[in-house]
Amino acid sequence: MGGEPLLNNEIIMLMSAARNFFPKCKIQIVTNGTLLLKQDAMFWQECGKNRIEIFISYYPVNLDYDAIITTAKKHGIKLSLGKTNEIIKREMIKYELDIDGAQDYNESFKKCGAANSCTTLREGKIYQCPTSAHIGIFNKYFNQNLVISEKDYIDIYKTGSMNDIFEFLRNPVPFCRYCTNKGTVEEWRVSKKEISEWVRGRA
Ligand code: SF4
Repeated sequence: MGGEPLLNNEIIMLMSAARNFFPKCKIQIVTNGTLLLKQDAMFWQECGKNRIEIFISYYPVNLDYDAIITTAKKHGIKLSLGKTNEIIKREMIKYELDIDGAQDYNESFKKCGAANSCTTLREGKIYQCPTSAHIGIFNKYFNQNLVISEKDYIDIYKTGSMNDIFEFLRNPVPFCRYCTNKGTVEEWRVSKKEISEWVRGRA
């Protein structure tokens, strides 16, 4: 989860590695589903072999959900559809960033729905959320400089123990100062790739 996992060319290896290290855990691929029907037989076989479940986060796009459900069933894969009650609603919540970083990071963290819920592992580093993990893409595209420091992640290759990771995750990080955590409900639409979609008060 956090990004679209089916875009990762090594998804099959990752499924197998995850099962190897977490033999008893529930493991789920959280996907928008758009690439599911393009997966080959090996993908589905490996899902079955490694007891990987699939969760589709629903977006109001043209997707043959019936065909996906049938394919998953055929391979004995447990599949869940998110937000089925809201399928007819074309809405999304926009969480605005404060690119001046003027928010109280403790307060932002306290109000945050992503903290300890959308933990993100990227290139060997664990972040509190996808926002901080991927802000470099935002910075590059919109020529911004929302700063990520070494205090905003924990490097799994340098950390001493699992407790260090838990301690990191239960506390705010400096990057939280960029989050207003104010959400506004907007009509769902495909991104126009404009900075105003991400940032408070910018045209
Ligand atoms: S940076 Fe902090 S406040 Fe913002 S989404 Fe991540 S955890 Fe939440």
